[in-house]
Amino acid sequence: MTPRCARTSRRSSGASRPTSNGARAVSSDSRRLPIYGGRDEGPRPATRQLVADALDRGVDPVAVIERVALGVDAIVDALARAPAPGEGATACARGCSSCCHQRVEMTAAEVFALARQVVLRGDEVIVARVAARAAEAKGLDGRAHHLARIRCALLADDGSCVAYGARPLACRRAHSTDAEVCRAAFDDPTRAGRVPDAPSITWNASAVVVGAYEGFAHARRPPAMYELHGALALALAAGAEARWLGGEDVLVGARTRSADEVARVLGLA
Ligand code: SF4
Repeated sequence: MTPRCARTSRRSSGASRPTSNGARAVSSDSRRLPIYGGRDEGPRPATRQLVADALDRGVDPVAVIERVALGVDAIVDALARAPAPGEGATACARGCSSCCHQRVEMTAAEVFALARQVVLRGDEVIVARVAARAAEAKGLDGRAHHLARIRCALLADDGSCVAYGARPLACRRAHSTDAEVCRAAFDDPTRAGRVPDAPSITWNASAVVVGAYEGFAHARRPPAMYELHGALALALAAGAEARWLGGEDVLVGARTRSADEVARVLGLA
């Protein structure tokens, strides 16, 4: 398989093509009703159920989100290999990393998955870079972050992601069907332009992500959003993960959206 960019998957998967009407039947347990808006179809209901059940059984939330991430990869890879009729092929390639200069928002479980990877790597330069970028990104909204072209601390010189296996869901979902548009937006961030995507990838990958968020919410861990660098810097502090697992929002200093705001954005009825 052609290697792709820092964000999108290089991993081959045996996933079959997901479709919007390919939902697996799930139980109608009233406690498991969808809580966000939008179409409750495709991989969303099954993801919600699996995530909620796993968390209820006491499975480590980081392991749960890592499993969800593999599901997103499988969808993106399958549809990139065989684009849906009428959709352009993805243009992402290894070393193409324009999109790794934008603000990345992620949930706490994703942050701790990333933190584990960084700790495992044991590279003090990366840890220092995370702290420096956290300071640069502090207080910036998505637009200001884009205009400042803050390079992700996890982006290597060759344009690859040093934490590829633990990169956030947003990075896994991100793709483009026109690399020139991405490059132009990077070269001149003041030019507003929509990056063209493959709608089937966006829809199906988003269905997994929303289903996962709902699963966390059902398990009484409603997801809030955090800026990558600020949150990662906080997560790398001694004892942070244990305190988070104990129910404390140790990442609050990097929070970009509360759980209530996430629910509002996603259309909580
Ligand atoms: S974590 Fe950073 S370097 Fe890795 S894919 Fe995401 S934005 Fe790019």
